[in-house]
Amino acid sequence: MIAQLRDRLRGKQISAVEATEECLQRIAEIDGEIHAFLQVADDARAQAERADARRRDGEDAPLLGIPVALKDIISVKGMRCTCGSRILENYQAPYDATVTEKLRAAGAVIIGKTNLDEFAMGSSTENSAFGPTRNPWDPTRVPGGSSGGSAAAVAAGMVPGAYGTDTGGSIRQPAAFCGVTGIKPTYGRVSRYGVVAYASSLDQVGPFGRTARDCAILLGAVAGEDPRDATSAPLPAEDFEASLEGDVTGLRIGIPREFTEGLDPAIRAHVEAAAETLQQAGATVENVSLPTLAYALPAYYIIAPAEASSNLARYDGARYGYRAAADDVLSMFKASRHDGFGAEVKRRIMIGTYALSAGYYDAYYLQAQRTRTLLRRDFERAFETCDVLLGPAAPTTAFRIGEKTDDPLQMYLADVYTIAVNLAGLPGMVIPGGMEKGLPVGLQWIGPAFTEARLLNIGHAYQQLTRHHQVQPR
Ligand code: GLN
Repeated sequence: MIAQLRDRLRGKQISAVEATEECLQRIAEIDGEIHAFLQVADDARAQAERADARRRDGEDAPLLGIPVALKDIISVKGMRCTCGSRILENYQAPYDATVTEKLRAAGAVIIGKTNLDEFAMGSSTENSAFGPTRNPWDPTRVPGGSSGGSAAAVAAGMVPGAYGTDTGGSIRQPAAFCGVTGIKPTYGRVSRYGVVAYASSLDQVGPFGRTARDCAILLGAVAGEDPRDATSAPLPAEDFEASLEGDVTGLRIGIPREFTEGLDPAIRAHVEAAAETLQQAGATVENVSLPTLAYALPAYYIIAPAEASSNLARYDGARYGYRAAADDVLSMFKASRHDGFGAEVKRRIMIGTYALSAGYYDAYYLQAQRTRTLLRRDFERAFETCDVLLGPAAPTTAFRIGEKTDDPLQMYLADVYTIAVNLAGLPGMVIPGGMEKGLPVGLQWIGPAFTEARLLNIGHAYQQLTRHHQVQPR
């Protein structure tokens, strides 16, 4: 865990080089089976040596010497940034994302880039052009997606912390499937500069760790306004770790009935048990309603593909990545996109282009945007009577590899509880809530905008009272 590793690094009981070697060794041992990493950094040891030198010089940056992994959609200068796509297979990032820059300043050792669904489109990491990642709890199952590599890497102990992106659940659902803690911050909390765009009005970067404390440390290192991202929020940096010890007495927890109606009773029991645990610690629990929730998934599958179809127009073979051989420039564009993109990405581009086309725009895109406004109001209304919402992270535990690949709608339904949070721009945290038939179940906590500190405080309080986050695969 990061908090402990930080103490050992500070106390000089371990060096950054040793901590890095431990991760590299664990990766060498098990990543052949799990396939969480697309690349391990050549310079990981050199970065660790620099961290040790900085400590010898008396520095104590927040992540000094701590190895972290980044989803392969976040730019790290000089490393490939494939986005899980053939079209970017050999593309090298020419600059660091702001997140990467901040991690370097914080002293982190960037150990490698993790696997993902192509351009973050998917819920199982099976859409990666480079093969699926396997769930460390059961290698016949998916780790969730799209940030499945980051979640699996943390769950399997290959790295103490990792970052992913969440456009419609891609941090929270894999955190649930892999039994780790993850937080999608409020839209605007973390800079998107240098993060390859999927759906720009929804994308956010966030961390995975074993505990809420680790996520507080990891989020604190990358959050903050960035002049290079106009959508980043002009808020002062917060010390999320300092807020962890807050009291949960009097906390008003709302359980949206749309989250529990029709939910698998086994998963529902874990949600109720968590509410009960916090009730005993002094919180109150009430039922609330998010009437528009049923329309969140259809609205998302208009808005996200619409934005994606525009964002992905830049991959034309001329400027980035793969270029097909062709006789003229139009055929070159066509063939590059034909060969370079996978089936799900093509489906999204077609859906998005259709939804935005003249004559259909009002019927689809505009309606979806209206739904988004209604959803935002639903949440605002719910937060009039409660401080935080509790529900499941996903309708099931990790499903089998191949189980949903032939049925996109079934795959989309894996995000039915997470997507509304992105549409409303709110922060959402998932923490382990127990096991079901040998697989982890995640609990999702949703707060008003910019209440990450409170969410992490709740996660920490829950983790002081329970042991679910300590259970590890194998
Ligand atoms: N599974 C959803 C999708 O495919 C969400 C992905 C994400 O959050 N990046 O769009």
